[in-house]
Amino acid sequence: MREQFPILQRKINGHDLVYLDNAATTQKPQVVIDAMNDYYTNSNANVHRAVHTLAGEATDGYEACRESLKKMYNSDKVIITSGTTEAINLVAHAWGKANLSAGDAVVLTEMEHHSDIVPWQMLAKEMNIELRYVPVQQDLTLDMEIFEASLDGAKLVCVVHISNVLGVCNPVDEIISLSKSKGAKVLLDAAQSAPHQYIDFKSLGADFMAFSAHKMCGPTGIGALLVTNDVFDEMQPFMGGGDMIETVSIHGSTFQSNEHKFEAGTPKIAEAIGWNAALKWMQEIDFKSEHKRLLEIARWLSEQLRSMGMTVYGRHDDNDAAVVSFLHPTMNSEDLAHLLDARGFAVRTGHHCAQPLLERLKISGTVRASFYFYNTREEAEAFVKQLSEILERFA
Ligand code: PMP
Repeated sequence: MREQFPILQRKINGHDLVYLDNAATTQKPQVVIDAMNDYYTNSNANVHRAVHTLAGEATDGYEACRESLKKMYNSDKVIITSGTTEAINLVAHAWGKANLSAGDAVVLTEMEHHSDIVPWQMLAKEMNIELRYVPVQQDLTLDMEIFEASLDGAKLVCVVHISNVLGVCNPVDEIISLSKSKGAKVLLDAAQSAPHQYIDFKSLGADFMAFSAHKMCGPTGIGALLVTNDVFDEMQPFMGGGDMIETVSIHGSTFQSNEHKFEAGTPKIAEAIGWNAALKWMQEIDFKSEHKRLLEIARWLSEQLRSMGMTVYGRHDDNDAAVVSFLHPTMNSEDLAHLLDARGFAVRTGHHCAQPLLERLKISGTVRASFYFYNTREEAEAFVKQLSEILERFA
C-alpha cells in the first residue's frame, strides 16, 4: 500500500514523513498521478464539442468519472463541481434561490464546516431566510430535541455526516427520516464520510450529497454533488456559459436537461480522469476493515494523549472517523505543530474551518491528527514517542 504513494518516500527535515493531515487532504497513489499525466501527454483536448479522436477520448474520460460515481454511490444524478464547497454553494444558488422564499427556515448544525454555513448566511441575507442552528452538546452529539423542534416549517436541513474536527458521525438516518416526515429536504456534507465508507445515496434518502475528490486519494479541484431526480428537476441553472446550453440566440437560451446544465464552461477534465483512477483504486480497499483498523489506532492514540495530560476532543464511537483533535493544557498548538514538523510529522492546527463548533467547545483551535489507509500503528507509536520527548523538553 505505502509503496503506491510516492510522497511517502519523502524526508521532511531529515526524517521520514508521517502524514497525519488526511482530513485536510489525502495523498495520491501513483495510478492517479499516472492517469492525469497520461491524459496531458496523450489525450489532451476539450470535451463534448468536437468529433476528433482526442476530443472523444477526453469526453469519455470525463464522463467515465461521472459513471463511476453514479455506480459507487448509487445516484441517478451526479453534478461534477470543484469540490464540496462549490457543491454546497450550487445547492444554495440552483435550488435555494428557486425554492426558498422570505421567511422560510433552513436548519444547520453548530458542527458544520464553514462551507456549509457561509453560503446559507449569504443566502439568508439576500432572501431574508431564517437560519436555525442545532446545538452541539457536552458529549459532542447534536441536541436532537432541539433538532426536532427546529424542523417545524423548515424547508431544508444541512448536516455534516462526519465532523472534520471531532470525527463524530452524526445520526444521519434519524436526521433524514425526521426531516422527511416534516417535508424538509436534506443536504448531507459527506466530505469526511465519503472517503471512508460506501454510501448508498438512494437508500440513505438525502436529497443532496456533497464531497471532494482530494480527500479520497483523488486530485484537488474536483468534487461532486449527488442529487435525486425529483430535486434535480427543481434546480435552476446557476452559472451560464458554454456546454450547459442547448441553443442560444440573441433572444434567449435553452439549457441542457442533464447534469451538464450545471457544469458551464470547460470542465475539470484531467481531474475527473484522476478521480476516476482513484475510485478504481479504492475498489480494492476493504472499507469496513480499514475503518476498524484506523479507529483502533485513533482510540489508542487518544488514550495515550490523555495519559500525557492532553484534552482530547472526540469520542471515537464505532461509526466515528479516525480523527484525533487534542490540546495541551499549556503548550501553544502552533509551537507544538512546528516541533512535530521538525521531526517529520504533518498535523494541522487552528479552527479547522469550524469556528461555531469551537466556540461551543470554548476553545479557539486544536491540534488534529487524522488517519487514512496508508497510515500505520507504528506511525502513531512514533508520534506518541516524539510528542513525549517534545513535552519533556519544551512543556
Ligand atoms: N465539509 C467538511 C466536513 C470538510 O472537512 C471540508 C474540507 N475540510 C469541506 C466541507 C470543504 O471541502 P473543500 O474544501 O474540498 O471544498
